Amino acid sequence: MPPPARLIRIDPSDNVAVVANDGGLYQGAEVDGVTLQSHVPQAHKVALTALAAGDTVRRYGVVIGQTTEGVPAGGWVNEANLKMPAPPLLQGLPIATRLFEEAVPLEGYTFQGYRNADGGVGTRNIFAVTNTVQCVSGVVGHAVERVRREMLPSFPNVDGVVALDHTYGCGVAIDAPGAVVPIRTVRNIARNPNFADSTMVVSLGCEKMQPSRLFPELFDDGAEDQSPRANGHASLVTLQDETHIGFEAMIASILETAERHLEQLNRRQRETCPASDLVVGLQCGGSDALSGVTANPALGFAADLVVRAGGTVMFSEVTEVRDGIDQLTARAASPEIANELIREMDWYDRYLACGEADRAANTTPGNKKGGLSNIVEKAMGSIIKSGSMPISGVVPPGERARSNGLLFTATPASDFICGTLQLAAGMNVHVFTTGRGTPYGLAEVPVIKVATRSDLARRWHDLMDVDAGQIISAGETIETMGWLMFEKFLKVASGEKTCAEQLGLANQLALFNPGPVT
Ligand code: CA
Repeated sequence: MPPPARLIRIDPSDNVAVVANDGGLYQGAEVDGVTLQSHVPQAHKVALTALAAGDTVRRYGVVIGQTTEGVPAGGWVNEANLKMPAPPLLQGLPIATRLFEEAVPLEGYTFQGYRNADGGVGTRNIFAVTNTVQCVSGVVGHAVERVRREMLPSFPNVDGVVALDHTYGCGVAIDAPGAVVPIRTVRNIARNPNFADSTMVVSLGCEKMQPSRLFPELFDDGAEDQSPRANGHASLVTLQDETHIGFEAMIASILETAERHLEQLNRRQRETCPASDLVVGLQCGGSDALSGVTANPALGFAADLVVRAGGTVMFSEVTEVRDGIDQLTARAASPEIANELIREMDWYDRYLACGEADRAANTTPGNKKGGLSNIVEKAMGSIIKSGSMPISGVVPPGERARSNGLLFTATPASDFICGTLQLAAGMNVHVFTTGRGTPYGLAEVPVIKVATRSDLARRWHDLMDVDAGQIISAGETIETMGWLMFEKFLKVASGEKTCAEQLGLANQLALFNPGPVT
C-alpha cells in the first residue's frame, strides 16, 4: 500500500504546504482538507485555501510572493503563478534586537585531530603546494603526481598531496580594490589547518603576485634578493631561477623541497581535541523545497550543538540570505556585527548591480524543478541551517575566521567559490546539503554530503553521507537527525572517510575575483 498523502506546512500562518511523498501526489488526492487539482511533484507547493490574483503567499511564516492569477484550494503554486517580492531595504533593519537565553554548554565531546603550533587543529594531514601564478600549474601538477607516486608511500602518516591550483596571479589589476579578495584567499587557503603551516610555494618569477606580496612572512625584512627565510616551515621554488637548466631541474628542486615538508608532516600525530576545535563550514547546493524542511533544519540543530560545544560554525552564501537580512541583523550579537552584515550585503548588491543583475539571478532550473519558486523561498530554507544561536562574527570574503561561535562568512553562493572561501576562512570540516544531488567534494577538507530526500539518498547511496530525508520517510525528528550529524562531524574530523573521499572525488578550487582583469 502506498504511504498516505502528506503535505508539510512549516509555520501556522503559511497558506501553502509542500508535498512530502516520493514521486509527488496525483490529481484528486485528498490531504489536509484539500483535493489536489493537478499532479503536484514532490517538494512543490499546494495552496491550502483558494487564492485570488495578487494574494500574498506565505511559507516559513514569511511572504514569498504574490499570486499572478487565481489559484483554487489544492492548486499548484509555482514560479509561473508567483511574483517575487522586493528584497528588504538595508535601512531601518532591527539591530541586535533578539534576546538570547544563555546557551547550555555542551561538554565532553572530542575528536582525534592534528594540533598545530598556532593552536588550530587539522582533520587531515595533507601536503599542499600553492603557487603565485597559474603559469606554473602544469609543472606543479607534474611534480605533485611524482610526489604521490614516488614519495608518499615512504610517508605513511601523510594523507595526501594536493596542488592548490588557481587562475590568479598575473594579467590582473593587482592594485585595484577588488584584488585584495583573491590575494588574501590564496594566502589564507595555504594556512588552512589541514596543511600544518607547511604549504610549499612555487613561483614563476615575473608575475604580478610576487611571493613577497603573497607571503610577506617568508622573507627577511629588507632583503634585496627576496630569499626565503631559512627558519620558516613554508618554502619557495622559483622556476625562472637561473640555476634551473631545463624542466627536470625544476622538478628536482620541487621534489627536494617536498621531501623536507613530507618528513615534517609525517611526524604529525592525531591527539584528543575538544569539539571546540571544530571549524565547520556549511553550505547547500542543488537545493529543493525539502532542503528547508529536512536537511537544513537538522543541520541548524547540529550547528547549535557545535556552537554550544565552543566550536566554530560558518554559514555563507550572500544571495541566499539577502532576503532574510532582517532575521540576521536581529540575531547579531552586537550592533557592530549587525552593521558588518549590512556592509557585506550592500557591497554584494553593488557588485551584482555592476553586472546588471540582482540576488534573483541565484536560482537554477533545478531549484525550480525542485519546488523552489524564487530566491525568497530558497533563502528562507537556506538560512535555517545557521541554527538559532547569536551571530558572533562576520568574515569578509577570503579572510580567516578569528573567533569561535556562529560566524557569517560572506561568500557567493556558487558551490565551488563558497567552498574555496570557507577553506580560506579555516574550516576543517565541510557540510553540504543537497536535494537535487551533487557529487561535490574537496581534496583539502572532508565534505559531508547530506541528502534532503531519501529517494536521492537511495539512488546515490555511495555519494551521500547522511539521509536527512528520514525526517519524512522514517519519522526521524529534526533533533535526532541533528545529533546524528554532530556525531558524524566528530567521526569524520577523526579520520573517517566521507563518500567523496572514498571515491577520490574533488572539485577544483575557484577564486572569487571581483577585481578587473587586464
Ligand atoms: Ca552553494
